[in-house]
Amino acid sequence: MTDVPTTPSRQRWMAAMVALTLLAFLCQSASASGTGKPNIIILFADDLGYGDLGSYGHPYNRTPNLDQLAAEGQRWTDFYVAAPVCSPSRGALLTGKYPTRSGLYGRQINVLFPNDSVGMPAAERTLPEALKEQGYATAIIGKWHLGDAPDVLPTRHGFDEWYGLPYSNDMDWVGEPDFDAMVALRAQGRLQELQASVDGRLAKYFDPKVDYWNVPLLRSRCVDGRCEDTIVERPAQQPELTKRYTSEALAFIDRNRRRPFLLYLPYSMPHTPIFRSDAFARRSLGGRYGDVIEELDWSVGAIVERLKALGIDRRTLVLFTSDNGPWRYMREHAGSAGLLRDGKGTTFEGGQRVPAIFWGPGRVKPQVVSELGTALDVYATALALAGAAPTPDIDGLDLSAVLRDGRASPRATFAYYRSGELRAFRKGRFKLHLILEGAYGLPPGRTVPETPVLYDLSVDPGEQFDVAARYPDVVTDILREIDRHRAGLVEQPPLFDQRLARLAARPASEGG
Ligand code: MG
Repeated sequence: MTDVPTTPSRQRWMAAMVALTLLAFLCQSASASGTGKPNIIILFADDLGYGDLGSYGHPYNRTPNLDQLAAEGQRWTDFYVAAPVCSPSRGALLTGKYPTRSGLYGRQINVLFPNDSVGMPAAERTLPEALKEQGYATAIIGKWHLGDAPDVLPTRHGFDEWYGLPYSNDMDWVGEPDFDAMVALRAQGRLQELQASVDGRLAKYFDPKVDYWNVPLLRSRCVDGRCEDTIVERPAQQPELTKRYTSEALAFIDRNRRRPFLLYLPYSMPHTPIFRSDAFARRSLGGRYGDVIEELDWSVGAIVERLKALGIDRRTLVLFTSDNGPWRYMREHAGSAGLLRDGKGTTFEGGQRVPAIFWGPGRVKPQVVSELGTALDVYATALALAGAAPTPDIDGLDLSAVLRDGRASPRATFAYYRSGELRAFRKGRFKLHLILEGAYGLPPGRTVPETPVLYDLSVDPGEQFDVAARYPDVVTDILREIDRHRAGLVEQPPLFDQRLARLAARPASEGG
């Protein structure tokens, strides 16, 4: 055996090589065993219903990519969003707080509108802010809807970059009264004019053209505190949105494949007006809405394929869900809540229970989960997975043990709010309604029953049969639970209603 002469420099070189090899091995092991900081991708559809995906029972919509994720990951049957409408639901996802706790809600105005002066409060530690502390790259590609004033845009609240719409794709009407004018018509009792405007809009929703809505597509970025917000296009070419969001998402993944990242992709679809690109037009068995869902499924497939091609799929957790149930007022241009009752706007199940598919090879134990989970919990779970310090006073719970090992969910209860009002409460299989109301624009009107209505969701997920008389102890127990919930939640004033005060302060001549 020949002795290899060693010198101090050679020894140092060898030591460095050993250290590098060890580091590479440790990184590989961490990645393979599902530890380390995972990439987090949140795919957030808009107004997609509980029954809209093949894996959730839709007979016609073909969603093979999402169905595959559901089969390889966890398909949750009892997953809720914190509000039955866009802005408060999104605020809750990004803060882990019920909207009444953060102030991201309205008692009279349910969502934010263009030119609101408020939005995501500066005091909130948003999901991207918490993950940035852990070295994550962060992007939002899609609809923000938490305020369009410069200081509340997503790039001021933890997202490194943003490409997308500031609010819903049906705001910025062309040739129709704007939101403030609608409020004025109502206040002045000009109800016929108001109704005529609503009817005219419905016709446009059902035969949508890009030019009906002057909604801007923005790109925003902040570097060292200097922010640049650019209008890429106005009106946004809505048929191209899903395709463009997907390209932007793929580019972001490519750029950040070597570091942990948070990709929040709130699709603008299938919120009406529904649009799809030419490649998907008239292809589905489910009409225009089916085309839109199938394009979303294509997008999800493209993203997962890219993760695999880059070899980072085992370092990534993907969640696909929706911000609220289907907007039933939009008839066949809306989706379906399947066997659940009602849709967007209500605290019936169809308004707030949504599909939720978690996928992450080596990180998510494949199974159907019928435990309780909520979008509030996504915040706490993501922080735990990233190793970030928890945020105090949140409502979200850490679901990581359910995802990893299929353990029981830490969540036993859920409070259903509409317009800042606690209307129903679920504990285990039972749900108690204090106040009943149909979806937006549809009956029944707001009703406070003499005695609360109780449903056993395990045998009656469609909320048809009141069993309060059969289970008086359950009613008492849930009422006590509601008291506890209320005692633990310090409410903030409703931020979205500030617009009313602003309107009231305007000279009368501006009101029309
Ligand atoms: Mg929505």
